[in-house]
Amino acid sequence: MRIADDCVVTLAYTLRDDAGEELDSATAADPFAFVHGRHSVIPGLEKALTGRAAGDKLGLTIAPADAYGEHSPARVQVVPRDRFPADIDIEPGMQFHASDEHGGRMSVRVAEVNEDGVVIDANHPLAGQTLHFAVEVLDVRAATAEELAHGHVHGAGGHHH
Ligand SMILES: [Zn+2]
Repeated sequence: MRIADDCVVTLAYTLRDDAGEELDSATAADPFAFVHGRHSVIPGLEKALTGRAAGDKLGLTIAPADAYGEHSPARVQVVPRDRFPADIDIEPGMQFHASDEHGGRMSVRVAEVNEDGVVIDANHPLAGQTLHFAVEVLDVRAATAEELAHGHVHGAGGHHH
C-alpha cells in the first residue's frame, strides 16, 4: 500500500546536518514508526513520504521552513549569571526548563556564557538548519482504531503500553 493519512509508516533513516554530521538515526533492527498525517514528523518529511511504498529509498534535503523553522533571534536572551545557582558551573549546551510569558514550560539551552551573563536560546536545537535524510521505507500499514485514538503507533518502532 502507498503512504497516505492514517497509515503507520515504519522507517530506517539517517539524519545529517549540512556539515555531514550525523544527528540521529534509526535502523531496520530498531526502526522508527509514526502515524502519517498527524504532524508527528516534520512537514518536509511527511510531504516527501506521501505516496511512497515499502522498499522505497529516498535522499532528502529539507529546508528549515519545512523542518524545525528558522532560528528566531527573539528567542535568544541574556540572563544575569546571578539568576542561576552559584554552585553550578553554567556551560554551553546545558538545558534548563523555564517558564514562558504565558506561564507554560519551555526548554532552553545555554548558548554561551560571557561577561554580560548567560546567553540562553529557546529555539529548537535544529532551528535554522537544513536537514539531510537518507530514508528507507520498511513498512506501510493501516493504523488500528486504537492507534488512531491514541495518536501514536503500538508495537515495533512505537509505544509499548
Ligand atoms: Zn497508545
